[in-house]
Amino acid sequence: MRIGDAIRTARRACGITQEELAQRAGITQAALSRYENGLREPSEAALGALAERLGVTVRLLRSASRLQGAVAIDVHMRRRATAKATVWRRLEAQLNMYDLHARLLGEEISVRAVHRVPQFDPIETPPADAARMVRAQWRMPSGPVRDLVGWLESAGCMVIDRDFATTRVDGLSQWSSDHPLILVNERMPTDRRRLTLAHELGHLCLHNLEPMLDMEQDANDFAAEFLMPEVLIRPQLRNLSTGKLLDLKRQWGVSAQALVERAYRLGAIDAGRRTGFYKQFSYLGWRRREPVSDELPPEQPRLAADIGRALAGRGLTAEEIAQIAGFTAAAPDNPFSEPGRRLHIVPSS
Ligand SMILES: [Zn+2]
Repeated sequence: MRIGDAIRTARRACGITQEELAQRAGITQAALSRYENGLREPSEAALGALAERLGVTVRLLRSASRLQGAVAIDVHMRRRATAKATVWRRLEAQLNMYDLHARLLGEEISVRAVHRVPQFDPIETPPADAARMVRAQWRMPSGPVRDLVGWLESAGCMVIDRDFATTRVDGLSQWSSDHPLILVNERMPTDRRRLTLAHELGHLCLHNLEPMLDMEQDANDFAAEFLMPEVLIRPQLRNLSTGKLLDLKRQWGVSAQALVERAYRLGAIDAGRRTGFYKQFSYLGWRRREPVSDELPPEQPRLAADIGRALAGRGLTAEEIAQIAGFTAAAPDNPFSEPGRRLHIVPSS
C-alpha cells in the first residue's frame, strides 16, 4: 500500500469526496487526485494539512507503505442487497483504517490474548465442527454463550461498536497481521449483534485463506452451532410456539427468527411450519422489532479501551495515546481513548 492509498482510504472512511477534502486542506482537487493515485508525492505541508483534516497523524499515513497487506485484505460484510454502495464502501474503509490504527499501536505494545482465533480449512472441516472446536479450544461452558464480545476479545479479536447510520449493514470483519477485527453496528438489538459477531467469527475461522462458494451459508452454519449447539438446543425445539420462542430467546440470547431458522435447518420443523411462523411474525410486527431484545444483557467491547487504560496507567496522556494509535488529539473516533472520554462527534460537513 502506498501513501496515496492511505489518503484515499482515510478520506472514504470520513465519507467525504476528493473535492471536499481538497477544499478543507487548501489544495486543489487535481493535486489530491494525483496524490491518491500515486502520481505525485505530497509535500510535507500538504500531507500535514490532509492528515489534520482526516483526523489521523502523518505517521499513520506514512506507515501505510510499511504495513504490508493492509487494505488489500478481503473484508467480509454482513449486509442486505439493498445497502447502498456509498454506505458499505465507507464502512469498509473505516474497518481498513481501524486495522491501520491497530497495527500502528501494535508496533508499540503487544496484546497478549488468552486464546486465539483458530483457522480451519473449510473443505476439510464442516462449519459446525469448526464451531464446536472453537468452543472446546476456548474452554467455553456448554450452555448459552454469555458475553460473546468478551470471549472474542479474550482471543485477541478487536470488536469495535459503531453506529452505521443504517440498519442495512450488520457488521464486517477482516484479519489484521495477527489480530482479527470486527466492526459491528450498535444500532442493532443485542440478539442480532450476537448473531453477527458469531457469523463474522465463522468467516475469520474458515475464510481467511481464499474466497470460496457458500461462504455466507458456512458462516451462518458456524454461528448457529456456536450460539445454539445442536445437542443442547434440539430437544428444546419441540412443540415450538411464539411464547416458547421468546423463552428460548431469553435463555440463548438469539432472536426468535434465528431460532426458527435453527429449528428448520435441524429438521425440527418443516418448511410449512417455518412459513407459518414468519407470517405470524409479520402479523405481530416482529419482523421490524422483536420483543425481549431489550431484556438481553448488552454486550460492550472493552479491549480497545483497556489498551488505552493500560497506556494511561503507564503515565501517557490522552494526546500521547492518540498519537501512538495514529489519531489526531481531536479525532472523534478513537476507540483507544479512555471510556467516558470518547467523544461522539461526526466529521463536520
Ligand atoms: Zn458473511
